[in-house]
Amino acid sequence: MTNIQDKVVIITGASSGIGEATARELASKGAKLVLAARREERLKKLQEEIQNKGGQVIYKVTDVASQEQVEELAKYTLKEYGKIDVMVNNAGVMPLSPISQLKIKEWDTMIDVNIKGVLYGIAAVLPFMRERKEGHIINVSSIAGHLVFPASSVYSGTKFAVRAITEGLRREEYSNNIRTTIISPGTIDTELLDAISDLELKAASVEANKKVQIEPASIARAIAFAIEQPSDVAINEMIIRPTIQE
Ligand code: NDP
Repeated sequence: MTNIQDKVVIITGASSGIGEATARELASKGAKLVLAARREERLKKLQEEIQNKGGQVIYKVTDVASQEQVEELAKYTLKEYGKIDVMVNNAGVMPLSPISQLKIKEWDTMIDVNIKGVLYGIAAVLPFMRERKEGHIINVSSIAGHLVFPASSVYSGTKFAVRAITEGLRREEYSNNIRTTIISPGTIDTELLDAISDLELKAASVEANKKVQIEPASIARAIAFAIEQPSDVAINEMIIRPTIQE
């Protein structure tokens, strides 16, 4: 039996990419999952797939940019499973563009999803975890939370923020026995580039990524590793790059 067995884990952004792979990995290790994202069809399909393999999984359609909906997600989890062991704040968007293009709506979306979405996820589970004096909050940042690339200024800003918030949370909550983990993936083969509205930049990014990208399951295994540690061990930060990424 792993230390993941019967843990109740909420995963945001579970309808594709890293979140979807994480759901499969944790389900195979006996977690009780709550999948969250906006696209219900995708969530339903993944739920069926996991259930067919004997996994325990429910889902709730959730826009993480809505504090109310994220709060409802936590309430639903407590109603169905009676506890929350792990919150994986994974949902994120990456409409890259140079600042000079002034794509202000896209900046707003990145801030709403990548930063506020993570904060709402923390807010929704922290009171329960503090009361119980146990819990684990895993926030997905990025290699772009360590480095700034051309056109990644705002995206990197949101991912630097995720790291700062998570480290702050660690310092404030370790004495309440709450674990925090920052996950910083390198280039992973997912749908993340779809949101780039500058078609030339999108095509160039797809081409560049093709040469180095690794499967989302690589990140899922890292997340499982953090969760399965004994409760007195916290994996606070991990960078997972393709070996051949610069
Ligand atoms: P995908 O685009 O495949 O997945 C993104 C997920 O986020 C989807 O499930 C999407 O679901 C969800 N999402 C987006 N907006 C919202 C919203 N408002 N509310 C709820 N869910 C939302 O990309 P990845 O799997 O790659 O991305 C997962 C995380 O990994 C992100 O935080 C990303 O920044 C990070 N990351 C990815 C890297 C990569 O190379 N792929 C590298 C470094 C970090 P839906 O549209 O159904 O709501």
